[in-house]
Amino acid sequence: EQRHRLVVLGAGGVGKSSIIARFLKGTFTDTYKPTVEDLHCRDYDVNGSLIKVDVLDTAGNLEFPAMRRLSISTAHAFLLVFALDNEDSFTEVKALWEQIKEQRTNFKDLPCVVVGNKADLQSSGVVLVSRADSMDWASSHGLQNAFMEVSAKEDQSIVTIFQRLLEQAKLP
Ligand code: GDP
Ligand code: MG
Repeated sequence: EQRHRLVVLGAGGVGKSSIIARFLKGTFTDTYKPTVEDLHCRDYDVNGSLIKVDVLDTAGNLEFPAMRRLSISTAHAFLLVFALDNEDSFTEVKALWEQIKEQRTNFKDLPCVVVGNKADLQSSGVVLVSRADSMDWASSHGLQNAFMEVSAKEDQSIVTIFQRLLEQAKLP
């Protein structure tokens, strides 16, 4: 039976592993441990049907272009992550989307959610990537309604990410 591969991409340090840990284990840690690649396999009961999901956590830096290429080519769905306090990580998401479009001619059929993580920093006075810029970019790139602001730290909208991806995949 088919497994659905969700690939999580984005620059290092934006919170990819933290989002996955929050979603799968309900935990959060402030310590940063760089990822090479981790595959989390889970079976979900969605409206009475068993959905098998493999979540691929990636390194998120450019040292591994071949791994990135392979992860994009094998994905059934994408979660693109940037950190709201890191403009460069937003630029990286834009570049990732271009690479996905280049590698996957059926990109329009692939569920994709774009998240700005670390929304909890909103109250700390740090200058953040603006909501208007993120939404403008998303809607002008065929990613209408795909953008969300989330926080792995404060468990803001983390479950919603995965619900949206399942909805877009039309499962079941
Ligand atoms: P990855 O390299 O994208 O996997 O990033 P990590 O998940 O390892 O997180 C990098 C750092 O950012 C760690 O120190 C995390 O504790 C921190 N972090 C992750 N998510 C959040 C968040 O929502 N808010 C804040 N303030 N920090 C976060
Ligand atoms: Mg990581």
